[in-house]
Amino acid sequence: MATAIVDQALNPILATVKPSKTIVFTDMATQMKEQGIDVISLSVGEPDFDTPAPIVKAGMDALTQGKTRYTPNAGSTILKKAICKKLLEENGLSYKPEEILVTNGAKQAIWQAVLATCAQGDEVIIPSPYWTSYPEMASLAHAQPVIIETTPEEGFILSSDKLKAALTPRSRLLILCTPSNPTGAVYTKAQLEAIAEVIKSHPRLLVLSDEIYEYIVYKPAAHHSIGALPGMWERTLTVNGFSKAYAMTGWRLGYLAGPKHFTQASALIQSQSTSCASSISQAAGVAALELGPGGGAECASMIRAFEERKSMIVEKLRAIPGVNLAEPQGAFYVLPEMSAFFGPGAEAKDFGPIPDSDTFCIYLMKNARVAVVPGEGFGSPNCIRISYAMDIATLEKAMDRITKCLEPSIYRMRN
Ligand code: PMP
Repeated sequence: MATAIVDQALNPILATVKPSKTIVFTDMATQMKEQGIDVISLSVGEPDFDTPAPIVKAGMDALTQGKTRYTPNAGSTILKKAICKKLLEENGLSYKPEEILVTNGAKQAIWQAVLATCAQGDEVIIPSPYWTSYPEMASLAHAQPVIIETTPEEGFILSSDKLKAALTPRSRLLILCTPSNPTGAVYTKAQLEAIAEVIKSHPRLLVLSDEIYEYIVYKPAAHHSIGALPGMWERTLTVNGFSKAYAMTGWRLGYLAGPKHFTQASALIQSQSTSCASSISQAAGVAALELGPGGGAECASMIRAFEERKSMIVEKLRAIPGVNLAEPQGAFYVLPEMSAFFGPGAEAKDFGPIPDSDTFCIYLMKNARVAVVPGEGFGSPNCIRISYAMDIATLEKAMDRITKCLEPSIYRMRN
């Protein structure tokens, strides 16, 4: 029998899309673990906690009560009303239920918002370091990612001057993430006000505000929603979700809030691609919001644990000569600038030359047996990203292993 010949051609747009470094390095760590090697994985952005019990119970009740059918495409009315209440009371954002789109995770909300608002060739402005999916989503939508660099010295905060300098008539969407993955930076109200003034001066520019780490903020930092500033409601798409604060990554639940014109266009895309988010997760989402402001006591204890881990990890990193660090104000990542450890002349005993952050992370994986992610995937090749969503004893062990592997007796820094 003749072998069938299959045309292997793919959509050419895929040539512009990079695989996620987080996934590449996490998979590498998993492979080593499967070989019996004791690797500590600090690469994924996922809380180590279980979903709080009242939320799990609501999900189980939904199952036993037969809430197992499609909900309306944009989400159940009860969840949309609960989201409106939360946004009004906690964020000063006033939305009607028909201005909310419930999605399968915040990721889908962002993707649909980009697709709904950007035409071919429109520019999507993304401050770097950025969450790895933003530029790839822009490219997939045939839009043009425009990256604006920010540095540890600037606290990884986009200034209004840098934003102004990057604007062109094609600028369509600015993506802001506060608190930020991967930097942990949290914009102050004054910083958002300065950016808002620039956005308002541009006739076409919208802002997508990714607030998924909203509850994970360390005092005195405080979260602010740019959409609540004067004149910004009309031009803001607010994204949030349940994955991070409520430890609900696997439930796949997030949402988009914004002017009806934009959220309904995003809903149209959803209606022809995935339909509604899981009915079970939506019922659980209502219970999550009922835990109260900031996620109530359940989330407060997780946030306290993240803060304790952050303090420990910052102290250990600062004790390593050559590490440059902006202390995170929120989320559960730290992005140390490590360029002293790679480039010309950098070399490790029992490993070899370390030309770049990818090789540096492979060295840490193989010799320290700790998985972290090279900064290149976040638009900051001088950095590495460490996720501290891990119990403190394991984190301490990981930091001790990293410190040992960078001692001058076995590690030569760059020239
Ligand atoms: N935005 C940011 C900044 C994130 O870090 C993540 C998850 N890593 C998401 C959005 C997507 O979250 P989810 O789809 O799980 O709600």
